[in-house]
Amino acid sequence: MAADGVAPETVLRLLHEAGSPGTMAVMGGRFFGGVIGGSLPVTVAAHWLADAWDQNACLYEISPVSAYLEEVVLGWLIRLFRLPANSGGALVTGTQMADVTALAAARHALLRTLGWDVESEGLFGAPPISVIVGDEVHATMLKALALLGFGRARVHRVPVDNQGRMLPARIPKVDGPVVICAQLGNVNSGACDPLRDICDVAKPIGAWVHVDGAFGLWAAVAPKRRHLVLGLEQADSWATDGHKWLNTPQDCGIAIVRDKEALRQAMAITAAYYGPLSKREPMQWCPDSSRRARAVELWAALRTLGRSGIAAQVERTCRHASTFAEGLREAGHEILNEVVLNQVLVSFGSDEQTERVIARVQQDGTCWCGGTVWKGRKAMRISVSSWATTEDDVEKSIRAMGKAYEETCPAHRHDTF
Ligand SMILES: *Cc1c(COP(=O)(O)O)cnc(C)c1O
Repeated sequence: MAADGVAPETVLRLLHEAGSPGTMAVMGGRFFGGVIGGSLPVTVAAHWLADAWDQNACLYEISPVSAYLEEVVLGWLIRLFRLPANSGGALVTGTQMADVTALAAARHALLRTLGWDVESEGLFGAPPISVIVGDEVHATMLKALALLGFGRARVHRVPVDNQGRMLPARIPKVDGPVVICAQLGNVNSGACDPLRDICDVAKPIGAWVHVDGAFGLWAAVAPKRRHLVLGLEQADSWATDGHKWLNTPQDCGIAIVRDKEALRQAMAITAAYYGPLSKREPMQWCPDSSRRARAVELWAALRTLGRSGIAAQVERTCRHASTFAEGLREAGHEILNEVVLNQVLVSFGSDEQTERVIARVQQDGTCWCGGTVWKGRKAMRISVSSWATTEDDVEKSIRAMGKAYEETCPAHRHDTF
């Protein structure tokens, strides 16, 4: 750390010269590594505008525009996903924190029914809550549960089918209050848990059903994919984000809770200067106090795309995923998952061969894909989630993958030379 500063222009030049080469080209159309998505240009501009305003989106009085837009976008999202109209919500950093937020509401509601005020009394000595997850639960959900005192290892893990979907018939019968965490959009296969069947098991036992729909929830908007999320409106809380499939900049999580009052009670904070509660005060609904105005870019994305634009973005990226699967299959490679959404898992033969192809694809730089392990086998994972990806990008990338295979597959080299 230097004792004296330098001119802002110098600082920016240093950042650009030293920093830009160290970035991943997520904004291009050929980044397929994980469901990260690009950012729609309008959302980047909206983010800049919000930064220039430097609003603290904690209270209505402190930033009317932030508080107002937050209310507007939450209302729009509830309608967009066709969730119960009176649900409450919060904007947070990502889906993981949206899980934390929604599950804090679940914890509040379930324990309140048993006469336990968890925000006042804490969890020590509280009646135990059982938590049920699918065996393919996302790691961030386990972290969310850990943060709330539910314990990672305390959860009941339900077996899944060959696509990673929870098997509702295998949900254990447990006594006392229960939270069931379902998942829409397996981060490897893209598969969605059968929500309707899960809710059929959950409702008679009074379980709270929470949905981790980081990207899968957006399937609800595309008519051809909506069948994957049937039963959505029967759940009790939902977590998703704008930074993946909607294509806003990072740091844009969304929690929605049917029992609005439970969310409000779980997040309540009191101080003379935090009232009056005649308006929706953002900080009374989320874990944060001072916070940025992420509703601004969310509003910009939703207003620019509209319902039809979002549906088209989801459908187009899913179609690109199918093109990848068809092209790679035609070239003789094995697709390991049913391509129902935007995820493709491909094996190039042995685990070692697949690893070599992934390394060569990354080195070549035409596109970027990472690796994963699916049902014990190494796979290259292709996630199509950017607005910028075109058919040409997909064709170019399939060719680059084919070339990477030819260059690294020993058997093929033997044939050729
Ligand atoms: C990405 C993802 C998350 C975590 O979302 P963040 O926004 O990174 O916190 C949770 N669940 C699933 C299924 C995901 O794909």
